[in-house]
Amino acid sequence: MLTIRLNEGKDKAARRHHPWVFSGAIESVSDTAAKGWARVISYDDSFIAYGWYDSKSHIVLHLLSWDEKDEAGDELLRKIVRAAVKRRKDFFSLPDTTAFRLIHGDADNLPGVAADAYGKEIRIIVSSRFADDNLPIISSELDAMLHPSIIEAVTDRQFASLEGISERVRHFRAGKETKESEERENARFIESGIWFEAAPGRGQKSGFYCDQRDNRNAIEKYVAGKKVLDLFSYTGGFTLHALRAGAISVDAVDSSESALRHLLYQIHLNEDKGVIAPSSRDKVTITEANAFEFIRTVDTGKYGMMILDPPKLAKTKSGLENALKAYKDLNRIAMMKIASGGIIATFSCSGALTREDFRKVLSWAAADAHKDVEILKVLSQGEDHPIPLAFPESEYLKGFILRVR
Ligand code: SAH
Repeated sequence: MLTIRLNEGKDKAARRHHPWVFSGAIESVSDTAAKGWARVISYDDSFIAYGWYDSKSHIVLHLLSWDEKDEAGDELLRKIVRAAVKRRKDFFSLPDTTAFRLIHGDADNLPGVAADAYGKEIRIIVSSRFADDNLPIISSELDAMLHPSIIEAVTDRQFASLEGISERVRHFRAGKETKESEERENARFIESGIWFEAAPGRGQKSGFYCDQRDNRNAIEKYVAGKKVLDLFSYTGGFTLHALRAGAISVDAVDSSESALRHLLYQIHLNEDKGVIAPSSRDKVTITEANAFEFIRTVDTGKYGMMILDPPKLAKTKSGLENALKAYKDLNRIAMMKIASGGIIATFSCSGALTREDFRKVLSWAAADAHKDVEILKVLSQGEDHPIPLAFPESEYLKGFILRVR
């Protein structure tokens, strides 16, 4: 095992259980060429944590356990996986939800590992060298605990070059890596009583955004009798909830044609299952468009409810300024176009944008739109996407339900 000593005065965050250590905080590494488990100590030799060191990763040291009694190695890794799954134990007995996040990266002490249960399957998104290296152990522990039909692991394209890992799809059955045909069926699952399917392979995220589960339920209260605009609809998570809760119509807009086709498929699926009325399809339009452009063409007063769920607009802190403008513009136009008394559910999933800053952006948008806007509800990511107090960066999904007075 490596020994890593932190610089004097640079161990405060680490001692408070923040998982990231950047190279500037490191005084010495016993073997800089090596990668793997490390015992991390402070300048006075006292133990801080066990971590994973990799000089080629964009965060060279991740801290994984602050308990000196742990033994760094595969067994500790398995223990961390078990702990993450056990924290979700309430999700396994939910009668109407079979999709949820099992492992949420550093927030569960497993950097770059995002594992979701989709019914009987598990999908993992790999976004770090740590995850890529340790996938067989993580998969075998998930398999031993949960006996999924298959585990599929896909490299996150965005991180592949940043982390220097190859883009690939790997499969594991019964704890062993297997070769699968490309033609696998979709994974079918329910969320809050609504049926969904996620296609295998390189879809967006792991095929579904289960972080929005609570927020999809939250909008149901406001949609009855309204015309709804679902901007950035993806495969219709919000659209399906709006239909179930009595929307007059839903117009879904996304730049991805395949996502919109899947949305229609999922409407039929839920009609067949009796979750939504048989004629629900007739209430829905789909439009493949740039939502930032589309919103400018909307007739003022047409919609009583709008859902704005754009992709991550600020990828990094440096991209923040442009992202702020985009968030402000989108929300300003929505506030101008919505019917009087209308409701806007607006989201930001940019980790680089804090909740306070997002709220400020919304207040600027309201001021420029000359509208009085009130917050009806404050929204966040589902509790299967935990936010450790020691790791504020893990709070990424922020949302507000607003009423434009
Ligand atoms: N609301 C969805 C998730 C949205 S994810 C749900 O509940 O499942 C963000 C979506 O924005 C993706 O589907 C992506 O295809 C789409 N998107 C990205 N850029 C876009 C743009 N400029 N205009 C319209 N859609 C866009």
